[in-house]
Amino acid sequence: MIIAILMICYINMFKRFLSYLNKRIFYIWLLFFSFLTVTMSPEDGTYYGFAATFILFCVVYFFNERIFSFFIIFIVFSLSLYYPISLYHGSLNSGIIAAVFETNVNESLEFIGKFKLSDFTFPFLYVFSAIILMRLKKYNKHNEESAEDKKKQKILHFILAAVVLFCMVWIPTKYYMDFHSNDDDIDGRWTLANSPMNLISFYANIYNSIDDYFVEKEELNSAKNLAPDWIIESATPKYRNYVLVIGESARRDYLSVDGFTLKTSPFVDLTKGYINLGYVSSAPATYHSLLNTLYLKMKNKENGKKDYSYNIITLAKSAKIKTFWLSNQGVIGKFDTIASRLGMSADFTYFTKKGGYNTDNVDDMKLVDVLKEKMSEESKNKNSQSRLYVLHLMGSHQKFCQRLNKDENKYEFINKNLSCYVNTILKTDHLLEKIVNLLKEQNESYSLIYFSDHGLSHTDKEDKDAVNLDHGAEFKQNYEVPFVKVSSDDVERKVVNTKRTAFNFMYGFSQWLGIKSKHLNKDYDFFSDKDDENIKVFNFEKYVPFDELKDDEIPKY
Ligand SMILES: [Zn+2]
Repeated sequence: MIIAILMICYINMFKRFLSYLNKRIFYIWLLFFSFLTVTMSPEDGTYYGFAATFILFCVVYFFNERIFSFFIIFIVFSLSLYYPISLYHGSLNSGIIAAVFETNVNESLEFIGKFKLSDFTFPFLYVFSAIILMRLKKYNKHNEESAEDKKKQKILHFILAAVVLFCMVWIPTKYYMDFHSNDDDIDGRWTLANSPMNLISFYANIYNSIDDYFVEKEELNSAKNLAPDWIIESATPKYRNYVLVIGESARRDYLSVDGFTLKTSPFVDLTKGYINLGYVSSAPATYHSLLNTLYLKMKNKENGKKDYSYNIITLAKSAKIKTFWLSNQGVIGKFDTIASRLGMSADFTYFTKKGGYNTDNVDDMKLVDVLKEKMSEESKNKNSQSRLYVLHLMGSHQKFCQRLNKDENKYEFINKNLSCYVNTILKTDHLLEKIVNLLKEQNESYSLIYFSDHGLSHTDKEDKDAVNLDHGAEFKQNYEVPFVKVSSDDVERKVVNTKRTAFNFMYGFSQWLGIKSKHLNKDYDFFSDKDDENIKVFNFEKYVPFDELKDDEIPKY
């Protein structure tokens, strides 16, 4: 008897619970839908971005149900379309826009052909959840309310709208206040792309990316005609063929020449030449590193803006050296144009990609093939002009395994990702050896410089299976990179540990090419044994002393 009464009680409670849910099922499902929306959006968001997105949906719903429906359809359509692309290319930037705009039909089909069916699973679920949301909306009837209640609700809706608006603009405004007036090449503009609500930043970013694409395209076109007035005092290049290899994400302590346990740099380990184990990159990621390495920082006298025209290519050209730019990185993109604008101003330009660095995956060795072609063309020219070939590699860029062919997986180290990383270091060493052999075959004097743009630091170090390498800014190893010079007249192998900052690379570069310029008239020898003092690095926010950074040693398990 008692059990029966209890049962009835429970059933009643359950029924009441169901009817409670029933009244609110639309909002519960909307909460779930908000969660999916935040997960679908390729931009980074914050923890309260999810709550803010839910409130945004509610506010639109309270405002007008029809508009709500259109709003949901629009979002579902655009996020579902971009989601598979984001799996391969991450969040949108001008590089992806360039890839879209400058790709022909065949290439587009090839691009679409790369998608797997599983890439559409999540968008499919998302569309399905939106359909359920729309059905629930139909049955979500409002109760009859008194005028008093309606007034209260209006105030509540107003407050909610204000909260959403605040969430949207607070971080972009703070960012703008912090960075808009700084001089350190941080993009300090006010944009909703910095919003912590990743639904909002997704659309803001589409707008920015298209806008950036046209601006960058224009800048690249004008880079072709850059005419800085380098004041050249003398130019006596010592070698016929110069090769500058700009590496990517290679941490020096992963090279055996710097003591790594596996033979990852067999060529550099034995070659004659100059190897500096004290070279420090200027910043922990490509953009700021190359900006501070390959350009001489000068401000335009007329408008006070940064003048990009004083750089390695224009310097070489002003000394009548023929310039070639061969790149496996991107042409247009947030992080690409800093290097590609140099490429565009070279006498010969070859890019493996049409958009950003991550819009295609081409083997670095492709650049060696093009180099070989160009060198044999040049050797037919009987003039005595020197040439500078710049090769910009993908090197050891993230998604390390994608940099390798099957037969390049020689070493195993800790786990799959780190094994691939180690093998990319080895691959770049092979590439250097190949280039030096190619140079030897020309029977002309040569000199090659190789450095990496920056290092990386470990993540998830406590877990052997999960430990990986990523961009970072707080460790010495984010900046410690190899620097190697190999020339046809080297008689010895010189391995030094001279503290040298990439901020001074322009001086070393002009020394290397035998150029004396008034702009670089500094009593300074880049290749001397004298240490650079007070080396600073740019950590994405400010310049900090390199010596005060922490160590991130390679883990041992
Ligand atoms: Zn890089």
